[in-house]
Amino acid sequence: MEINPVKGTHDIIADEAYLYTMIENAAMGIASLYGYKEIRTPIIEHTPLFLRSVGESSDIVNKEMYTFEDKGGRSITLRPELTAGVMRSIVSNKLYANGDFPIKFCYVGPCFRYERPQAGRYRQFNQFGVEAVGAPSVYQDAEVIAIGHRLLNTLGLDNVKVLINSLGDEESRKAYKEALREYFSKHIDKMCPDCKRRLEVNPLRILDCKVPEDVEIVKNAPKMTDYLSQESKAYLRTVISILKSVGIETEVDTNLVRGLDYYTGVVFEYHFAKVEGVDNVGALGGGGHYANLLAEVGGPKEEGIGLAMGVERLAYIVKSTLNPNTKIGADVYLMGMTDDIIEQNFVLADMLRGNGFIVEMNYATKSLGALFKAANRKNAKFAIIVGEDEFNKKEVSVKNLKSQEQTLVKLEDLDNVLHSMLNKYYADENPVDTGKEEQ
Ligand code: AMP
Repeated sequence: MEINPVKGTHDIIADEAYLYTMIENAAMGIASLYGYKEIRTPIIEHTPLFLRSVGESSDIVNKEMYTFEDKGGRSITLRPELTAGVMRSIVSNKLYANGDFPIKFCYVGPCFRYERPQAGRYRQFNQFGVEAVGAPSVYQDAEVIAIGHRLLNTLGLDNVKVLINSLGDEESRKAYKEALREYFSKHIDKMCPDCKRRLEVNPLRILDCKVPEDVEIVKNAPKMTDYLSQESKAYLRTVISILKSVGIETEVDTNLVRGLDYYTGVVFEYHFAKVEGVDNVGALGGGGHYANLLAEVGGPKEEGIGLAMGVERLAYIVKSTLNPNTKIGADVYLMGMTDDIIEQNFVLADMLRGNGFIVEMNYATKSLGALFKAANRKNAKFAIIVGEDEFNKKEVSVKNLKSQEQTLVKLEDLDNVLHSMLNKYYADENPVDTGKEEQ
């Protein structure tokens, strides 16, 4: 009997895995430019960690967690996100003890949510994220938002909107929740069962509802901006203007509340603008400020700000917007028609790989025609062909497999010549950065 993958999971194979690695490396590299160090926390945590942090009013805790009892009778949950685990780790390892704030971490890894699978929504997916805890500052908030923006730019996605809002301080939020309760009480009979529950537990969550009839009702709900204290308004304005100073335009979205309970103050999301033929996969990432999260998991009362981006969604958008002719494959295919040439090619391949080229070659002698077919199957950009005469003269022919142009190159110059040929090839192929330079 064939065993299928679990619903909502997917295998990431070959070229796609390469794209994931490229995105993850770019993300972690960018975070390190801002001084974030990597943290790897367990995939399983005690369930109460998520109840206390992500929160009992969130959809994640209510409907989406993979929770089970282990053989020791403990309630264990596969992490639905990484922030809570990072906070738990800061507390477990007393990383706050030396008072050196902010503590800055970046991460990448799998998360699990029992959601209805659809475009950009999986039950196992990967998140990249950063957290900065302690020493709160408008600059710190802006820095985290800028990291996500820089990643999108690096991936060639400049068609992106940064939505921003403030959930205000505790007082503002209390007043706003009251106003929402009053407004939604008048409409709740017509709203979905989830919203009925949300009204009881946390009316802010109703603003997230995707049911079309409810979205209409939400449109006329009171706006957070009308309930923000002067201080919270000024804070949001300052973060917006700091972002502007580094060229990042934001758009205030007063209904942006995010789906997790721990956010307070500034919240944000990145959305890819609509493009024909590209599915709307929802937010590429988002995050926000959290005043009480570390304290809620047993640490000192230090504020923080975090960001999480979905690697699956980034990979989908990068793939959909890349020049479709750009195929990941070998940089060069070394063609050997005789045993002598194969012997020389083996050494040449070793040298080229040492210099960072992706190299494929044949080990059994074949005709030139068969070798061109093989190079094609490997998506090779260039072929290196060595004839009897060239072999004796220590030369090779480098053939651009797209333009069919062929150049005679001395073996000693091959590395340099190939570098410039490949750079030109990728620049011509795709004005968008394919990440080739970052490898
Ligand atoms: P969140 O932790 O809910 O703030 O989500 C942060 C980012 O993770 C989202 O913007 C998505 O890019 C990604 N994400 C969240 N849930 C899923 C999912 N079920 N499948 C794929 N990506 C997801």
